[in-house]
Order: sequence, then C-alpha cells, then structure tokens
Amino acid sequence: MTGHIMPTYNRLPVTFDRGEGVWLIDENNQRYLDALSGIAVCNLGHAHPAVHKAICAQSEKLLHTSNLYNIANQEVLADKLINKSGMSNVFFCNSGAEANEAAIKLARKFGHAKGIEKPAIIVMEKSFHGRTLATLSATGNAKVQQGFAPLVEGFIRVPYNDIEAIEAALKSNKDIVAILVEPIQGEGGINIPASDYLNRIRTICDEHDILMMLDEIQSGIGRTGQFLAYQHNDILPDVCTLAKALGNGVPIGACLARGKAAEILTAGAHGSTFGGNPLACAAGIAVLNTLEAENLIALAQVKGDKLRAQFSEKLKDNVHIVDIRNKGLMMGIELDTPCAELVKLALDEHLLINVTNDTTIRLLPPLIINEQESHHLVNTLVAIINDYTAQIH
Ligand SMILES: *Cc1c(COP(=O)(O)O)cnc(C)c1O
Repeated sequence: MTGHIMPTYNRLPVTFDRGEGVWLIDENNQRYLDALSGIAVCNLGHAHPAVHKAICAQSEKLLHTSNLYNIANQEVLADKLINKSGMSNVFFCNSGAEANEAAIKLARKFGHAKGIEKPAIIVMEKSFHGRTLATLSATGNAKVQQGFAPLVEGFIRVPYNDIEAIEAALKSNKDIVAILVEPIQGEGGINIPASDYLNRIRTICDEHDILMMLDEIQSGIGRTGQFLAYQHNDILPDVCTLAKALGNGVPIGACLARGKAAEILTAGAHGSTFGGNPLACAAGIAVLNTLEAENLIALAQVKGDKLRAQFSEKLKDNVHIVDIRNKGLMMGIELDTPCAELVKLALDEHLLINVTNDTTIRLLPPLIINEQESHHLVNTLVAIINDYTAQIH
C-alpha cells in the first residue's frame, strides 16, 4: 500500500478519510477518538468550520505572491502573535524545524556581532528540535542523529531541568551565545521542569548577555493552558519558535524575537519562498481568533487538570503507574515498563494515542474535547492500560 513512499515511518494499519472535532473516521466509516491531534497540530479538532471558511475564502482570492511583496495576512497574523506573546517581531516559515533553523541562525549572527567566531548554543538532553541537519544536531536523541554524521557543530548539551549544569557550561566556554530549550519536553517524555526553571534561565541569560530561546512548537498555541507555556512563568524569552498548532493542519511555522534579538536577521540574511503565504496566514488568523472566541486556552487548563484527576483516581491501584503529569492538555502517563505496544492496542479500541521515551503514554487531545469525550478517553485508556499491565509481573 505504501510501496512508493520512502519507509521513513512505521505506519499503523489505518487510513482516515475525514474528521469531525475530536473524531477521525476511516475508510470503513469507523470512528476513532483522536487523543493526539496529529501530534499537537489540530488543537481545534478536525474540520473546524472557522478554519475551513478562512482557507476557502482565501483560496478564492490568492494563495501565494512570495515575500518580495507585502502580504496583508502576514501582517495581521504577526500583530496578533505579538499581542499575545509580548514578543516584538516574527519571521514566518513552514514547519517547526525551519522555525528552529531561523532561531539557530539568529543566535549565531548575534554571536558574530559580538566578535565570537565560533558561537555555541546550550541544548538539552532528551530534547527534540526537528529533522534538518542543524535541528537534529541540536536534538538530544542519538536515534535521531544516527547515520547523519558529521553533525552541525556548535551545540553544548546539558541535562534538562539542571541549572547548575548550565552554569558550569557557561563557566567553561566563553563562546556560548544562547540557550535553546523546550518549556516542557514533548518527544522526550512530557518532562515538566521545576516551576522556576525558566525564570532561572531568564536570569542567567540576562547576566551573561546570551539569548533565551524557547522551542514552543509543541507546548504553544494554548496547549498548556496559556497561549505560550512561558506565560506560566511571567517571563519573556528573547526568541520563541512556533509551528504545529499555529495552522491547525495548514503548514506554518514562526520564529518570534524581541529586544536585542529582534533586528538581527536583516534583509538577505534569511528567507523562505512559501513562508507566511496568504493561505497559511489565513489559517493562523482563524486559529488565534477561534482560541479566543471559544475561550479554549483557559479551558485547556481546566480540562487537563480534570483529566489527570480522573486518570489518577482510576489508576490508583495499578502499581505499574510511575507518574501522571500534565500542564493543561499536554499530558504524560509514565509506566515502569516499556509500553510502545499500547499504541496498537489502543488503535484496536479506536483510540489514537502515542508513547514517547519508551515508557510514557503521551496525550495531546484537541482543546475542544468535551466532557463526554473526555470520559470516553479515560475509560477506554484505563481499561487498555490495566489489561496490558496485568500481563507483566
Ligand atoms: C514537532 C517538533 C519540532 C519539529 O517540527 P516539524 O514541523 O516536524 O519540523 C521541533 N520542536 C518540537 C518541540 C517539536 O515538538
């Protein structure tokens, strides 16, 4: 069936034909509850009418002009992002990896402007920043890097959630120009750092005149109960990258900057043919308007905490549960045993989930999930987990 597709993915044996809110419907009219949102992309669920209308209307007028001209939708979306984020300007691209590429280039240019010839960026163990050469080099996962040497140099790796390790790295290397970190590690296992971790990184970056760069590609756009996860900490980074849910399925990425980081990428220093085109930005505008109109960001916090409480209650007698953690609707259920098989077992029960870091079930349901759908998610998944762990000793 996938004979002419490069085998870069081990695909599950299902083909979806259409979606309705949190539901995906396959070729045989079977309905599946999507608790993954296409990996944190469809935060408004599938076939949201506001997104549908916006991209239909835009496609009747204009799809693409190139960045050689002003693009009205890009300016509208940038204004909205700046208002919501506290940052000051935006570079638009088409994916998360590209947004991080822009951030990495920005940091290097910032370093060169300070006279640093070989600028280095602190990155974290278990991080994920994308699949391009620079972003896989920044990623803290040997599997992602396997077979792609020579890697891009200029990354210094420290453990996540370890301020002392950052301070030690800064002491031993005068070429560090930035710290690139996820507010919550997604691919790495839904790792939520100490509540003051980002505040302390902010202070360190100020003291050393280096850039604080947050990868909010998975945690952003309302997922954690704030528009951006750093807003839980009342700080502003110097650079912030977005993608995934920004277009609810229409590809779009963004690199936001502020203060001394805002004017570094000048004319000719960076670019993108498709980046910020009228269609993608129409989707982005519709997404941000809908998050507001439906109060979905505040609700993400309430719904996520409720979900976690229900899982905790129903799994309290299962000794194989190590931890259940969430920030809003970014949730992990960690087992004491590898559990990748659960993905297929859940699919058999028409539930779409994911497992990261071998032992953590990752849940990223659409923010529009309602009470009844949440109950269905909890009841179905608890039964699957209990069946699975009953078979191990
Ligand atoms: C998904 C993801 C990326 C990469 O995004 P792509 O659009 O797949 O390039 C980067 N960083 C984080 C934190 C992600 O979750």
